[in-house]
Amino acid sequence: AAKQRQCGSLIYHAQLDVGSQESLSLLSELRQAIAAGELRLYLQPKVDLRARKIVGAEALVRWQHPTRGLVPPMQFIPFAEQTGFVRQLTAWVLAQTAAFSRQALDAGLSLRLSVNLSTRDLLDQDLPAKIEALLTPLGVAPQTLCLEITESAIMDDPERALSTLEHLSAQGFKLSIDDFGTGYSSLAYLKRLPVDELKIDKSFVLAMERDLDDARIVRSTVELAHNLGLSVVAEGVETARAWNLLAALGCNEGQGYFLAKPMPADQFLDWAKAWAP
Ligand code: C2E
Ligand code: CA
Ligand code: CA
Ligand code: CA
Repeated sequence: AAKQRQCGSLIYHAQLDVGSQESLSLLSELRQAIAAGELRLYLQPKVDLRARKIVGAEALVRWQHPTRGLVPPMQFIPFAEQTGFVRQLTAWVLAQTAAFSRQALDAGLSLRLSVNLSTRDLLDQDLPAKIEALLTPLGVAPQTLCLEITESAIMDDPERALSTLEHLSAQGFKLSIDDFGTGYSSLAYLKRLPVDELKIDKSFVLAMERDLDDARIVRSTVELAHNLGLSVVAEGVETARAWNLLAALGCNEGQGYFLAKPMPADQFLDWAKAWAP
């Protein structure tokens, strides 16, 4: 019980010394979590703002901890990135998402599913081949999978990230820049990156209704994306007003609590059937 309590408090600290006793026990707890089936795939719908139809979903991981309940990703992803364990986590999310994609296809739904990649994943030159090996046996086309990458993950090692992204794109996977506007300015890279979509960070979308500057940033981002031939998604759509404002600005897709919170995969399947075109 003492060990449980000790581990328990640790998850809440993002910065642990790698190699420390605390770090090692959390790492082994996370390893066990995968083996014991404690991770959960949650999906949050992405909707076409004009047509008001579901187009896909973002995969978001949660940890169903035996004593602490549902642990949100921000309490273990940063740690997983620090230690490199995130690669195993990403592999788990990709496998679950691929299996769900097959299930959705069998139910007559054609959805684009998005998976978050971390800095570490972008440095893995074998990633494109690994993803293809997951999808091919299931008969899931690469075009139905979108990979979300943050600006800061790219800027960590831009040349290597660019090489991985070019491979992924050449294999037909869709690419999205996540949390756009919050990372380092990467307009020079944006031009070179083979991306298909920009995702406006929720901080701008949430503030847009009361702050004119945020509204202007959202408007400029939509214009920038469209001028570059990219599709735009707004995350953090919490109200009908935000939905309408974004639709008026020409934003293509929306994601947020106004539509639905992230939900377990089986629940999402029912949701998607009700919203399907
Ligand atoms: P993110 O990729 O920016 O994901 C969007 C986050 O915004 C999610 O938080 C989602 O639940 C939340 N969100 C969605 N709609 C709304 C809204 O209307 N209002 C507000 N206030 N929030 C909204 P979540 O699920 O807690 O995930 C947090 C972060 O953890 C993600 O941010 C992502 O960076 C990371 N993450 C989650 N799952 C994975 C994963 O499988 N792999 C990796 N590498 N990172 C993940
Ligand atoms: Ca994301
Ligand atoms: Ca985001
Ligand atoms: Ca974020």
